[in-house]
Amino acid sequence: MRVTDSVKCCICNTNAEETCDHLFIHCPTAYSVWKIFAEAAGIQGPMVQFRQVINLWWEVDCGGKRKPLIHVVPIFTIWQIWKRRNIVRNGVTMSTHTMFMEINNYLYLFTKIRYPWLRNLPNTWPSIVKILEEYTPLVCSRVVYWEHPPMGRFKCNTDGTSKGNPGPGSTAFCVRDEGGNLIFAEARNVEICTVVVAEVKALRAELKYCLENGLLPLIMETDSLIVKKVLDGVWEVPWSISVDIQCIERWMVNVEVEVVHTFREGNSLADFLANHVAHFAGTDVNQF
Ligand SMILES: [Zn+2]
Repeated sequence: MRVTDSVKCCICNTNAEETCDHLFIHCPTAYSVWKIFAEAAGIQGPMVQFRQVINLWWEVDCGGKRKPLIHVVPIFTIWQIWKRRNIVRNGVTMSTHTMFMEINNYLYLFTKIRYPWLRNLPNTWPSIVKILEEYTPLVCSRVVYWEHPPMGRFKCNTDGTSKGNPGPGSTAFCVRDEGGNLIFAEARNVEICTVVVAEVKALRAELKYCLENGLLPLIMETDSLIVKKVLDGVWEVPWSISVDIQCIERWMVNVEVEVVHTFREGNSLADFLANHVAHFAGTDVNQF
């Protein structure tokens, strides 16, 4: 956005030049809008320069909950001032109250989208600020660990890494029985690829090994949510893994194989092996 120095401000009729600082900060209308929103948010400080005012909002110490909302105020305010300047320049009027209401409405909509779980959200800026000040998020936690497969089943954990994403990749899988005994584990380096590609290659290698060795029924556990969603048909198949996914789906027909998702904490052995081999230059395949 470029505001030329030679043009007079069309909003305030004070014969002031339309500089960036005047139009967006010192012009009485702009100043009053900034002030109304700043006071309600408890933001204090001189408003001297365009960049300094934005920093005032962006560097305010307001805690993580309100930060996204506070950071967005300058964007809506500047946009509204610029819009009004163009409306007035074209011979139409726009009151300060309308400006205030529009910014207020943008902030309300932003809050609704950013904090969808907040019920009965008020629609005025001071009340929104107050609600977020008093809001305490409910924190839930649960312990994640590897669990034994049900009786008579095998469980295979897989993981894929990519150092650089894309970068040199590695895959690993480990099969355990119902008692948690390790039956087989393998980790290998693969060509330069992304994490998702490495994850799928690990799953494919695992399924191939288990089918060839009759380790069925099988639970394949991965910490890649994308792989799980793709195999469930919920997410679209990225082209980079489509060939491997087709192969896995073909192999899964008519065999008792289930794919489940776990968090990294529940996948620690495969995660360790994949990372271990990635740092082990010179050896391409490790079997345990
Ligand atoms: Zn002005």
